[in-house]
Amino acid sequence: MQTIQWELVPNWFWGLWITVVGSVIGSFLNVCIYRLPRDESITFPPSHCPRCNARIAAYDNIPILSYLILWRKCRHCKEPISLQYPIIEAINAALYLLLFWQFGLTWELPVYALFTSAMLVVAVIDYYHQIIPNEISLGGLPFGLLAAIFILQIGWKESLLGMISGGGVLLAFGLFWLIIFKIEGMGMGDVKLMGMVGAFLGWKLALFTIMFGSLCGSIVGILLIGLKKENLKTKIPFGSFLAPSAVLALFSGNRIIDWYINLL
Ligand SMILES: [Zn+2]
Repeated sequence: MQTIQWELVPNWFWGLWITVVGSVIGSFLNVCIYRLPRDESITFPPSHCPRCNARIAAYDNIPILSYLILWRKCRHCKEPISLQYPIIEAINAALYLLLFWQFGLTWELPVYALFTSAMLVVAVIDYYHQIIPNEISLGGLPFGLLAAIFILQIGWKESLLGMISGGGVLLAFGLFWLIIFKIEGMGMGDVKLMGMVGAFLGWKLALFTIMFGSLCGSIVGILLIGLKKENLKTKIPFGSFLAPSAVLALFSGNRIIDWYINLL
C-alpha cells in the first residue's frame, strides 16, 4: 500500500489549507458572537438572515467569497450584510496562518487555534454586550489544563500556576477597588477569563496579558475622557483589551518581556 509522504507536501499548500479552515471556522465564530450573548443555541437553527429569516444556503455561506459575490446583500430581501462577518472570517484565517508560521504542523497548532478563536469571540462580545460568556471562560479552562498536561510545552504546573495567578491578580485588584473606593471596578467575567488565559499560557504570559491589557485600556479610557465622549463612571469593556493582549502574549509575549528586561 502506498503511504502519503506528508513531509513532501509543500508548506504553501498547508498554508493555503489552514487559511481556508480558518475562514470557515471564522464563519462559525460569527454565529457564536451573535448567539452566545443571547443564550441561543449555536448549532440550531441553521444560519438565517436576521431580517427576512430566509435560510442561508450552503453556496451563499462561503466565507469572505459569498460576501463579495452577493455584493453585501441578502439574496432574498436585499438586506445589507454587516461588514463584520467577512472581517471576523479574515482575522481568524490570518491568526491561523500566523500560528502555522510560528508553531508549524504540531499538536500545539489546533490547541492555540482554539484559544485565539475564543479570544476573538470574547473581544467582540465584550465590546457589544459587556459580558464574557462562561461557555468560553469556564468552558475553556479545563481544556487549557488538559492541553498543558498532554500537549503544550508549558506543562501542567505552569498552567495551574497561570490559572491561579491570572484569575487571582484580577480578583485581588477587584476586591481592593471595592474596599478602598467602594466601586466595582472588576467584573467576575474578567477574573474567569484570566483564569482560562493563564491555564493556556502560564503565569508569566498571563501577567503580561493583564499588564498590557490594562495599559491599553487605560490609554483608551483617558483618550475617551479627554474627548469628552465618556466620563469616569463609564465601564470600559476590559475583556476587549485582555483578549487581544492574550493573543499578543502567545505570539510575542516572551520576546517583549526579554526586550523589556534588557532595557532596564
Ligand atoms: Zn434576508
